[in-house]
Amino acid sequence: MSLADRPFIIIDLNSGRYLEKNVGHEIYNLVPNPIDNRYYGYCPPYGNLDIRSLGVKPNKHGYVDGVLVVYVQKISGSCDREVVAFTENARVYATPQLGEKLKRIVTVGERVEYCKYVVESDTLNLLDGYPRFIIRIREYNTYMFRMQRVYKGKYPALDKKLIEYLDEYLSFKTTDDDLSFQGQVQCAEDIGSFDNVFNSEPSYTTTGSAMQVSKSARVSKFALRKADYKCEADKYHNTFSTPKGVQYMEGHHLIPCTTSNAVAFYERFCVNIDCPENIVCLCPTCHRKIHFGSDVEKKRIISQLYLLRQDEFKRIGIEISLDELYGIYGLL
Ligand SMILES: [Zn+2]
Ligand SMILES: [Zn+2]
Repeated sequence: MSLADRPFIIIDLNSGRYLEKNVGHEIYNLVPNPIDNRYYGYCPPYGNLDIRSLGVKPNKHGYVDGVLVVYVQKISGSCDREVVAFTENARVYATPQLGEKLKRIVTVGERVEYCKYVVESDTLNLLDGYPRFIIRIREYNTYMFRMQRVYKGKYPALDKKLIEYLDEYLSFKTTDDDLSFQGQVQCAEDIGSFDNVFNSEPSYTTTGSAMQVSKSARVSKFALRKADYKCEADKYHNTFSTPKGVQYMEGHHLIPCTTSNAVAFYERFCVNIDCPENIVCLCPTCHRKIHFGSDVEKKRIISQLYLLRQDEFKRIGIEISLDELYGIYGLL
């Protein structure tokens, strides 16, 4: 599901009196809980939110899953807000949860309190060091964050700009993960055959109950060997020799191996997309073209690689059209 289709709420952190005293149940919102590594978010000022305003009926346990929650903070010396973090797949409760076992404690004056939460998620994207998204309050109205929360649909122009920004961040992160993965591919031992791995369940690493797909460097290495360490976009592209005595090449998952794609393709076709059939061997220039090229350049190379792998996809049971693949890359 794309971000634009999700229920969505903006929560304003550390405003009002909490900003001065720096205490409050929201002090833990942006840090993983040490007990289970998950994220728990409080929604100030009353720790409760109107779950019906999310546009989805809560289930019988009193929560909604798959909510996009965006945390913003007041910029000091200004009324404007800055996006500090978001989670694209949160569980949001109708009533505040206490979670005594989570040891989220805050001291208010003499009193020690358990911190309540209404948002719970496996992951949180911190936007530290990433180009900022600032909400200029004067473009909306001065009461915008009076209740320290804004629901989807209240400011449609803001929703649109914000979703675009978050989508861009997620695509940046996928690229970042993919390019840093190449180091592991280089170090991986080139042994074994992974011709049947498409049949297996994707493997996930779990922290607490958080789930993240894990890519196998050895499977990618095997895909490079199968391509004889030649660029599959153009076999005449030369790079340089690695200490292992082969030409330097990179592995790219044609259907990008993100957690949501891995889950979706396994559900639909029972195929693990971290398989050699889905990994193309590319020279660094062609690889970066896929991630950083203009839409025209991206389409050109993706369609070429799609034609190359179309039969392999069919053989292992994946049905995907070129248009659907373009869609996965955000190309319309
Ligand atoms: Zn890549
Ligand atoms: Zn190339």
